[in-house]
This record gives sequence, structure tokens and C-alpha cells, in this order.
Amino acid sequence: MKAVRYYGKNDVRIVDIEKPKPKTGEVLIKIGGAGVCHSDLHVIHDGLKFPQASFTLGHENAGWIEELGEGVTGYSVGDAVAVFGPWGCGHCHPCQESKENYCDHQAEIGGLGGGIGFDGGMAEYMIVPSARLLIPLGDLSPRQAAPLTDAGLTPYHAIKRSASKLTSSNFVVVIGIGGLGHMAIQILKATCASTIIACDVSNDKLALAKKHGADYTFNTTQDNVAEQIIKLTGSKKCAVVFDFVGINPTIKLGSKIIGLDSHWTIVGLGGGHYQLTAGTTEARADNLPYGCSITIPYWGARTELMEVIDLAKRGVIHVEIEEYPLSKALEVYEKLEQGKIKGRAVLIP
Ligand code: NAD
Ligand code: ZN
Ligand code: ZN
Repeated sequence: MKAVRYYGKNDVRIVDIEKPKPKTGEVLIKIGGAGVCHSDLHVIHDGLKFPQASFTLGHENAGWIEELGEGVTGYSVGDAVAVFGPWGCGHCHPCQESKENYCDHQAEIGGLGGGIGFDGGMAEYMIVPSARLLIPLGDLSPRQAAPLTDAGLTPYHAIKRSASKLTSSNFVVVIGIGGLGHMAIQILKATCASTIIACDVSNDKLALAKKHGADYTFNTTQDNVAEQIIKLTGSKKCAVVFDFVGINPTIKLGSKIIGLDSHWTIVGLGGGHYQLTAGTTEARADNLPYGCSITIPYWGARTELMEVIDLAKRGVIHVEIEEYPLSKALEVYEKLEQGKIKGRAVLIP
């Protein structure tokens, strides 16, 4: 079968590998769609190392059960399923709570999940180590569901953590209206009544944000965006800022618009820095407002993915997808890098 494989820093190839066979407890999935996440670009460019030297990329996966390993019950061949991405040990306290994204033993597992350390879904078939990591899709198409497992789940988890701040009188900002950001706008619209402000460098992405319910949009290539946002919010500034980019310019923007008693949530892995200063009246002018929590959430829990899939099934959220054949994976990564994908690209084997 064809697979898109990572071999090390800036080395991704489309190769032929053998169709895997599920062992006891494992499940073989016929991939219906594999989302292309910006995190892959960080993995590829940073040359992230895992015990398994090469692996198939693709950590946003959904498809149909092809074969059940010995002892697997509860599913039948042909069932449509989404694959929960962050694979924990399955036994520790966080895992028992379905928060495998915060597994106590993550460092010992040898990878973060299928597509990040272990073989993922940019292939015709994929092995999932346990049926515990599957969510039934019913009538929802695997192409639509694949991006929900990360582009949907990650913002959902981040937003849920800030539910208490997302009141009707507050302002919430989403920076970066890409795969994750365009879902964040929809999830905010569906779950809270705060005024939603969207920021991106692309007017097309801002139009997408507007279409999905953003109340105000700002192009961050203008130089006085922070001032314009504060003009809108007044001195209270923003109760929650979700940064889906995480580079120095977006972190600087976040630091200027975040208000008192707030959540500054940095999801993007862009390598930006923030220098925190404690105390001193002199430093206070540039310092964070009191009561601001900075947080870097990671992915989401299994039960949260069930909630995201439920929102999609009910038509409350919808991933804008661009479909490409698996053979176009390298071109798609290039387009993603250039900011030219609208919503989420999904590879269809
Ligand atoms: P994407 O490429 O689809 O979207 C990024 C968006 O940011 C684009 O619309 C782009 O135009 C915009 N952007 C770029 N520079 C900007 C700037 N200066 N100001 C405003 N907008 C700007 O990426 P994605 O797949 O949505 O991922 C977003 C980030 O989140 C990536 O860094 C990714 O690695 C990270 N991520 C983190 C987690 C986690 O669990 N923490 C999970 C998934 C993805
Ligand atoms: Zn991802
Ligand atoms: Zn665990």
C-alpha cells in the first residue's frame, strides 16, 4: 500500500509498504480521510526524533473497520470510526478519565500517537492499538470526521477550559483562522455568547471567520491592530485570547489585548517567546494584567472528541475541507506552509 512517511528532518517520502495485519487487541482501519495538520510541518522541520526512526504521518484519521484483531469486541467490519489521536498508556489516572492527552506515562510510550512517532493514517490502512481509541461515527463521513479529531478537538478542549470566562459581556479573540481556528470560531459560536474577534494575515481566512460567526475581524498585517481591538473592547480588554499561531508577533498581540482575570491560551506551536516580569511598579506597565493565566493546552480528551463528533452530527459545526489524493501529500504540505489551505486539507487514499 502507499504511505506518506517521515524519515527525519525535512525528509518525507511517498513509498510502498506492506498492508499491516492487526495483532491481538488491535484494529485495522481502512482510511477514509487523513487531515493535514500544521503540527506535521513542525515535526518535519524540527526533525523530531522518536524510537521508531521512520513512521507514516497523519494524526487526524477516520475510516472504516477493515479487520478486528483477536479479542476485540463491540465493533463489526465496515463500521465507520474516528481514531482518537493522543495515545496514552490507557491505565493511569488521566487515561482512566479519558484524558490520554495528559497521560502520566507519555514520555515512556515512544510516541504521541499514530502519525507522531507511530504509524498514522496517511496510507490506505492503519493499525490502531486498541478499540478504546475509536469513536463510532454512524452516518458522519470519515472525510468530515478526520479533521474533527484534532482541528475540532484541540480548540474544543481549549474553549471548554475557559467556559467560565466566556460570558455574554466578554470579548474572546481567535488568532489564526486555519484548520484549528476556523473550528474554534464555530465552537465558540455554538457554546457561548461572548463577542468573537478573529485575527489573521489573510483576508480570505477572515472572510471564512465572518461566515462562521466572528463578530469582528482584523488583519494582523496592519500595525495598530492591538489599539483597534482595545478601542472596541474598552479598557476591560479581552477575557480570553486563543492563539493558534504561537509566533512572536501573535504573542506580542496577545500580551497587549489580554485583560484582567483572563485566560491567555497559546495553542500554536510556532516557537514564540514571552518574557514574564514579576512585580515592581516600574515593570507593571508592560506586564501581564493581574489574574491572567497563561496556558498551553494539548489536544483533548476522548469524551471531548465524542462531544465534538456529536456537534458535527447535529450540523452545529462543519469542517471546511479541501480534498486531495494521497499522492499529492507533498504539494499539500507546501500549500499549508504558504497559508494557502482554506479550512483543512484532507488526504483521501
Ligand atoms: P494552519 O496552517 O491551518 O493555520 C494557521 C493560520 O494562522 C493560517 O490561517 C495563517 O494565515 C494564520 N497566521 C499565520 N501567521 C499569522 C499572524 N502573524 N497573525 C495571524 N494569523 C496568522 O494551522 P493549524 O493546523 O490550524 O495549526 C495551528 C497551530 O496549532 C500550529 O502551530 C499547530 O502546530 C498547532 N497545533 C497545536 C495543537 C496542540 O495540541 N497544542 C494541536 C494541533 C495543532
Ligand atoms: Zn495536529
Ligand atoms: Zn496514561
